[in-house]
Amino acid sequence: MAYLANEFETLEPQYDVVVVGSGYGGSIAASRMARARQRVCLFEKGLEYQPGEYPDTELEALAHMQMDSPDGHVGSANGLYEFHVNPEINIFKGCGLGGTSLVNANVALRAEPRVYEDPNWPAAFRRDSALMEKCYGWAEAMLKPTPYPDDQPELKKLSALAESADGLGPSLSIAATAVATA
Ligand SMILES: Cc1cc2nc3c(=O)[nH]c(=O)nc-3n(C[C@H](O)[C@H](O)[C@H](O)COP(=O)(O)OP(=O)(O)OC[C@H]3O[C@@H](n4cnc5c(N)ncnc54)[C@H](O)[C@@H]3O)c2cc1C
Repeated sequence: MAYLANEFETLEPQYDVVVVGSGYGGSIAASRMARARQRVCLFEKGLEYQPGEYPDTELEALAHMQMDSPDGHVGSANGLYEFHVNPEINIFKGCGLGGTSLVNANVALRAEPRVYEDPNWPAAFRRDSALMEKCYGWAEAMLKPTPYPDDQPELKKLSALAESADGLGPSLSIAATAVATA
């Protein structure tokens, strides 16, 4: 698979739009701007990982860890697994082309309606459920979330969860995930 990122030296002197960060937020913003015919530059501080390049063992993963705390920074500033440890809030995030999507579960579910009852959400999200439906529809049409298909290789973790569910009583339902296709 071809790499998406360009060398720093290929940067042009000027762009219409510069987006910082290539996670869900930054990449969608960059895509929308590019579709609106803007000249877009997307900056990402982390590395680009192709399938097969992700660390496979705990020891390999260790080389891709970074931790930031008031006492200093340990590990490469480009490490894939980025921890921020602070007195009041701790964060784990991904650092790389694709942002935290590189290390998340890719589960793509609609939030339960009660989530938007929380007054902390901006009024626009709470008031217009028809618009939310429409937006969910757009996201699903693009991401095509689907449960892990039966005809794919067995996932041992999933089999173990199914066995646990059998033992405990509830039926297992497999969450829809947005799986990238080549
Ligand atoms: C363990 C875990 C599991 C999750 N599972 C799911 C899930 O199953 N489904 C789901 O929908 N969500 C999941 N999430 C949440 C989801 O991943 C995040 O909400 C989402 O990735 C946030 O996107 P973002 O664009 O805001 O930020 P990020 O994805 O974090 O992207 C920010 C990017 O900006 C880059 N950056 C930061 N500073 C700079 C700089 N100065 N210059 C250049 N680049 C910079 C970072 O390296 C990073 O790549 C999960 C999150 C975690 C931590």
